[in-house]
Amino acid sequence: MDGCVFCAIAAGTIPADVVFQDGHVVAFRDLHPVAPFHVLVIPRIHRSSLADAVDADADLLGRLMLAAARVAREAGFEKTGYRTIVNTGADAGQTVLHLHVHVLAGRQLSWP
Ligand code: AMP
Ligand code: ZN
Repeated sequence: MDGCVFCAIAAGTIPADVVFQDGHVVAFRDLHPVAPFHVLVIPRIHRSSLADAVDADADLLGRLMLAAARVAREAGFEKTGYRTIVNTGADAGQTVLHLHVHVLAGRQLSWP
């Protein structure tokens, strides 16, 4: 989508530190990491948020989560753990309106 920064990253027109990509998803390091390991996993196609996902996106949503697990595993966090987060909408603090999964690891994360 025109003007969408994550669409531009997926298209390769804006640089990003890409750690994994395939035909469906791209995973890259967050510009402002909040943990030692902070990667975003996005679909190549534009969806503004999880609220925009439809039944036909079921495979894609699965691929996003599998890619999140993959980058965490390949970075060595399978045993120590990691957190996957999808912020949706204003109250969740979503700032980039292109669906993304945060993968955080490398420190003890508080909850809630
Ligand atoms: P959210 O608050 O869930 O919408 O998260 C958006 C995330 O995107 C934030 O953690 C930002 O630091 C990150 N971000 C924004 N622009 C870029 C960019 N060009 N490259 C990498 N990460 C970005
Ligand atoms: Zn987009």
